Amino acid sequence: MPRYCFVNGRYLAHRDGAVHIEDRGYQFADGVYEVIPVHQGRMIDATAHLNRLDYSLAELRIAAPMARRPLEIVIRQLIDRNGLTNGLVYMQVTRGVAPRDHKFPKHTDSALVITTKQTKPVAASLLAQGASVVTRPDIRWQRRDIKSISLLPNILAKQDATEQGAYEAWLVDEKGLVTEGSSTNAWIVTAGRDGKPVEIVTRPRSHDILGGITRQAVLALAKEQNLRLAERGFTVDEALAAEEAFLTSSSAFVLPVTRIDGKPVGSGKPGPLTQRLREIYLQYADHTE
Ligand code: PLP
Repeated sequence: MPRYCFVNGRYLAHRDGAVHIEDRGYQFADGVYEVIPVHQGRMIDATAHLNRLDYSLAELRIAAPMARRPLEIVIRQLIDRNGLTNGLVYMQVTRGVAPRDHKFPKHTDSALVITTKQTKPVAASLLAQGASVVTRPDIRWQRRDIKSISLLPNILAKQDATEQGAYEAWLVDEKGLVTEGSSTNAWIVTAGRDGKPVEIVTRPRSHDILGGITRQAVLALAKEQNLRLAERGFTVDEALAAEEAFLTSSSAFVLPVTRIDGKPVGSGKPGPLTQRLREIYLQYADHTE
């Protein structure tokens, strides 16, 4: 089955998809992206992802390349043409093609590329063992809430993690608090010792983290279950002393984290609350678009 992409108004064979050498995304990383998960042929939280795309574009004063409704139709068509059942829709919008100059070009249309990718489910062995993470200083810019295509610090951190045999890098700010992973949000479940209740903890939304759409869904689902939630920062030591840890993203959904910098979290095994949240999220994913 041929695979298609969508480039500036045209469906093309994936291998023929190309952008101009003076695209500002290529020259300056002057653009944003969005990733929508597709589960059993249906998008998960499409509206929230498209809202975040609009937010990223507005924050950088890049014009939306298409109105919402036609954009939704193109995405749906690409999913159907590519027979995508489980995977990701990748969308990238840049400020467009113009002679290289730092200033915004005056009369340039923004450029849009959409691709899809079929992915395998998270390996059963990874789910059973849980993921390892390593910690790295968060050296990113101060607007991490914008889903910018400028990802050098993220890819360097992920590469470090990979070379250490870990799944993800958790990024730590100058105060010693975990911001998030290189491409995931970070969570812990605190030990309910000394009369304190068990609490699910993740960093609050601000300019310091990307407001993950999976994060938002998991918070809402946990609230529905009357679980105790705290949106606050946590240190690596607090994470190591926690009962459980996990990460969330559009590609991993809810994934247990069982080792941080080679040390076990809690029992060193995926925690029961994490597993429950994963199941609840999967049920939710079965019913959204
Ligand atoms: N944080 C960062 C830095 C990311 O790049 C991502 C996803 O790409 C996430 C968090 C998770 O966001 P979402 O749940 O919307 O995939």
